Amino acid sequence: MVSRVIPVDPFDLVIFGGTGDLARRKILPGLFRRFCAGQMPEDARIIGAARGEMDDAGYRAVVAGAIAEFSGAIGQDAALQARFLDTIGYVTTDARGTGGWDDLRARLRDDVVRAFYFSVGPGLFGDLAERLHMHGMASDHSRIVVEKPFGRDLESAKALNATLAMHFKEDQIYRIDHYLGKETVQNLMAVRFGNMLFEPLWNAQYVDHIQITVAETVGVGGRGAYYDKSGAMRDMIQNHLMQLLCLIAMEPPSRFDPDAVRDEKLKVIRALDPVESHQIVRGQYDPTEDALGFREHVDDSKSTTESFIALKCQISNWRWSGTPFYLRTGKRLRARASEIAVVFKRTPHNIFDDAETTHRNVLVIRLQPNEGMTLDVTIKEPGPGGMRLMDVPLDMSFAEALGPDAEATDAYERLIMDVIRGNQTLFMRGDEVEAAWNWTDPIIAGWESRGDVPKSYDSGSSGPEDALMLMHRDGRRWREIRA
Ligand code: NAD
Repeated sequence: MVSRVIPVDPFDLVIFGGTGDLARRKILPGLFRRFCAGQMPEDARIIGAARGEMDDAGYRAVVAGAIAEFSGAIGQDAALQARFLDTIGYVTTDARGTGGWDDLRARLRDDVVRAFYFSVGPGLFGDLAERLHMHGMASDHSRIVVEKPFGRDLESAKALNATLAMHFKEDQIYRIDHYLGKETVQNLMAVRFGNMLFEPLWNAQYVDHIQITVAETVGVGGRGAYYDKSGAMRDMIQNHLMQLLCLIAMEPPSRFDPDAVRDEKLKVIRALDPVESHQIVRGQYDPTEDALGFREHVDDSKSTTESFIALKCQISNWRWSGTPFYLRTGKRLRARASEIAVVFKRTPHNIFDDAETTHRNVLVIRLQPNEGMTLDVTIKEPGPGGMRLMDVPLDMSFAEALGPDAEATDAYERLIMDVIRGNQTLFMRGDEVEAAWNWTDPIIAGWESRGDVPKSYDSGSSGPEDALMLMHRDGRRWREIRA
């Protein structure tokens, strides 16, 4: 199946931090793929901006290297690459200095969409917004894209929102959470609100519980210093898992437009109950014979930062009262696998002799690997011998069902195209981010005041034993972490 590609309007995109890891791995290769797909117009311009001294040709070499390394087979097409590189320029700019800003201003056109991607450390977000304003680049048709982390608590998030708001209006600010750019995540909304089948069952009466898992096999690696100040709660739960929770749990918005969707997400966050200490398990991975443990990675033998977290939360509203949501995420786990599982209740009465009572429908939305959905349904076991039941998955892999092109659009490239189109639906609004911190802060303050120490877990496992107990106590169990 060939997907329809609708070209976006011409634009000038400035990537602050254009020589950094994120720009090289995701943003630039993503733009190149959109260019190859015919979505990025030839008269669009991409301007890298960072502290390093370089001219346009030098930066084009950086971009060519990034494409060759991270764009797959398409990156080898020399003719396409040459045309794409024609759109690239570079300005040496210091977010806290004075040099380069007038040069940058002079390069921008007044009659096209103008976007500034803040792909620099979070300490510079405010400086960039200020400088753009000071140098006359914060006009009404300018947009800024702000990377994570957006604050480290409610107070800092509020301060950052206030700084950005001094220079840009809310409809110019795109707070990125790349989980929202994933094909499956958007499909979650299509499935919920485009089918008659699911929405009538999507509530506490029919749903036993929901599990959201984001498991990684990598450790903190070279990000130790940053991660030790952050931990899984701040790095993953407050943003990515919270966003997934919102999309699963929100009421149907009246329209699929940015504010209608974000209003509903906000209501979910505000309806979350506080999490009690017995509803949360934190962990740290142990060293193995050939790999460092968490504390060695962060270079602090007494670190109490968590590389794993599992928690149970409740949404106090009419739809979800009584249906728990279990969230877990961690590093150095058994497999790299992210999924949302909606586990339905059992049928009220078993008419079959089959004594098996475990049958239930489970809708699994897989985010990675192999984005897709599975619905476990109960059928008769084939063959003679009476009415024995078994569960089989109705499996839909998007790559198989929709063709390879469907898989090729990565979250970042989709979101950048949304920025150019001016569509904020898949970006977090300021009040959403603040509400998420408002829920997160007391949980963190709770374990800090108790002096809780994370439980250790084996690399390659499913996390600490206590995390299994979190569900066992409720007569439930986690789904296996499987790639
Ligand atoms: P990085 O350290 O690799 O790159 C930082 C970039 O900022 C470099 O281009 C550097 O030249 C530039 N820079 C630093 N100080 C500057 C200054 N004073 N003025 C102008 N430019 C300056 O960082 P990264 O990994 O690319 O991350 C960038 C942002 O994206 C961070 O906020 C990070 O939290 C976020 N992020 C990164 C990833 C990732 O996979 N790398 C994932 C999610 C979010």
